[in-house]
Amino acid sequence: MTEPAAQAALASRLKAQAYGLGFDLAGVVRLGPSDTFPRFQEWLRAGQHGEMGYMARGENARADPRVHLPQARSALVVAINYDGTQPSGPIARYARGDDYHDVMLVRLRVLENWLKSDAGRAVWSRAYVDTGPFLERDMARRAGLGWFGKNTTLLHPQLGSFFLLGTLFTDLDLEPDAPFETEHCGTCTRCLDACPTGAFVAPHVLDARRCISYLTIELRGAIPPDLREAMGTLVFGCDICQDVCPWNVKFSRAAEAGPLAPRDENREPDLAELLLLSEEQFRSRFARSPVRRAKRRGLARNAAIALGNRRDARDIPALAHALERDNDPIVRAHAAWALGRFGRNTAAYSALQRALENEEDSAARREIELSLR
Ligand code: SF4
Ligand code: SF4
Repeated sequence: MTEPAAQAALASRLKAQAYGLGFDLAGVVRLGPSDTFPRFQEWLRAGQHGEMGYMARGENARADPRVHLPQARSALVVAINYDGTQPSGPIARYARGDDYHDVMLVRLRVLENWLKSDAGRAVWSRAYVDTGPFLERDMARRAGLGWFGKNTTLLHPQLGSFFLLGTLFTDLDLEPDAPFETEHCGTCTRCLDACPTGAFVAPHVLDARRCISYLTIELRGAIPPDLREAMGTLVFGCDICQDVCPWNVKFSRAAEAGPLAPRDENREPDLAELLLLSEEQFRSRFARSPVRRAKRRGLARNAAIALGNRRDARDIPALAHALERDNDPIVRAHAAWALGRFGRNTAAYSALQRALENEEDSAARREIELSLR
């Protein structure tokens, strides 16, 4: 076999292995400079990454994957469908089952072992799911997996965008797939129009600081007051700009039963229960779940906002309990905001008055005072 024919045959066998392991898309890219790096730099310069400092720390490596991995020559980019056909709910669909990082890495490691045994010689490889300083979407587009939608997700013409990406780098020369060169958003602007917090500065440009996914997962401190109402009852992530996309409406597919399948308790979680979880209960309830990333205080903060937006008087006791007893001032502050949404002459107002007498944290006190106005 000529060398190009051998590279093509190996790439083809590797992709077949990936599909056999349950990945829904697989493509090969020959490594080189990232097409979207200048756009990424503009985004950073504008501060639109918010508090995600790890994005800025890995800035230069993102110019080309070979900066971080000099041995690497090719990469297999894989995608796994997480079932956009599930009803929407307070927890984003990708986060309702086991942590996709773990699930995908296990499968990528199987692929690594297969590659080594198939090559019959020492092969260098590294598997990543989100954690490396790379522009994964950039590699995925060049591996033929889809185009960048105006909502910044990667869209595939037969799968939509409800999938997750992983990458296996190797020092082998694998025949690359053809890049995905066309775009199929046309004149559509549904995602831009549907975003409840106005997070899209322009088509393809997302200000993460306004995005509910960022606010509920990455932001550690207080949620900006002007964005709280627009968060509705979302407590971890947001699927809205994907839900409205015609490509998802048409092509989202149910996923096979497996570790990413939603856990029953995460389909329609009890928001008051999420507010009141102890650290230990949180660790147990969300063991091996992506929701751990928000930490107990973040999830309780988000649940307080969701209950304030739901404005169901049956939730007042849970909010009052959090306001009086939670040991984290961030949670108390957001419980105060939520109770303030119920108005005067309610049990919520009385709870706020009581809490003001004892609250020692200045930011939580301020929230109580604002809620009592
Ligand atoms: Fe807006 Fe939600 Fe999309 Fe973020 S995930 S851009 S908040 S619609
Ligand atoms: Fe593109 Fe419309 Fe989908 Fe947005 S909603 S990503 S504009 S097709």
